[in-house]
Formats: sequence, structure tokens, C-alpha cells
Amino acid sequence: MSQITVKGSCLCGAVKYEVTGETKRFYHCHCKRCRKATGTGHASNLVVAPQTAISWLRGEDMLVRYKVPDSERFYNWFCKQCGASMPRSVAEIDAVIIPAGSLDTEPPVSPQGRIFWDSRAEWSCVDELPTYAEYPPGV
Ligand SMILES: [Zn+2]
Ligand SMILES: [Zn+2]
Repeated sequence: MSQITVKGSCLCGAVKYEVTGETKRFYHCHCKRCRKATGTGHASNLVVAPQTAISWLRGEDMLVRYKVPDSERFYNWFCKQCGASMPRSVAEIDAVIIPAGSLDTEPPVSPQGRIFWDSRAEWSCVDELPTYAEYPPGV
């Protein structure tokens, strides 16, 4: 795809990163592990190669690096202070998987599709729902 540089951070700001590399793919993943890891209907994962594409600008010592024990390569790296998912370097695919919601800069690429659709939660991303600029009235 293309060469990009993006920056991101966690919810509390303790961890900041920059990634420079080649975009490989950008998918919304509805698999069960992504749902559990994010607490939402799907993860939005931007994949950039190579695995060394990431520079931790600060807070690398705040990272918790978790791997699902019975998985081949499912990792969840997160800030130990705020719990926000952070990018992880995945040697098995020689790439960095960036949780796109952690980005502070707009990536110059768009999601290509939804994967593991057959694993989705029934309520996730099926209907056209009304949208509100912020909270809906009365909330
Ligand atoms: Zn944090
Ligand atoms: Zn997934």
C-alpha cells in the first residue's frame, strides 16, 4: 500500500508512540478475541510493516504485554495505568498492529472491510442507527 507516519497515545497520555512504515491492511475485526480485548463490537486494526516500525516516544515502561496463552499470535498490549490498547509488534507477521482508535493523527488510508464477520456479536454493526453529534437528547 503506502509509506506512512502516524502518532498515537493512550487514554491517560503516559504512553506515546510514532510508527513509520508501509501499510499492509486496515480491517475492522469482529473476532471474539478482539471483542474481549476492546470491550466493543470490533477492533479496528491498522497493520504496518515491519515489526520495528514503532518508536515509543514515552512510557514504554508503562506497557503490559499480554499474549493469549493458547493462541499463535494474539497479543494485547496496553497501558498499565489506564488500560488503553496500544500497538504491538508481532514478530510472526513482521508488522506492528495499531489499534486505530489510539491514533492522534489521521491515517491516510481507510478500512478495507470487516473480517471475522461470522464471529460478530448479533448487535454489532448490523443496523443503520441514528447518529448524534455528541450525546443524544435526554442523556
Ligand atoms: Zn495510559
Ligand atoms: Zn480479531
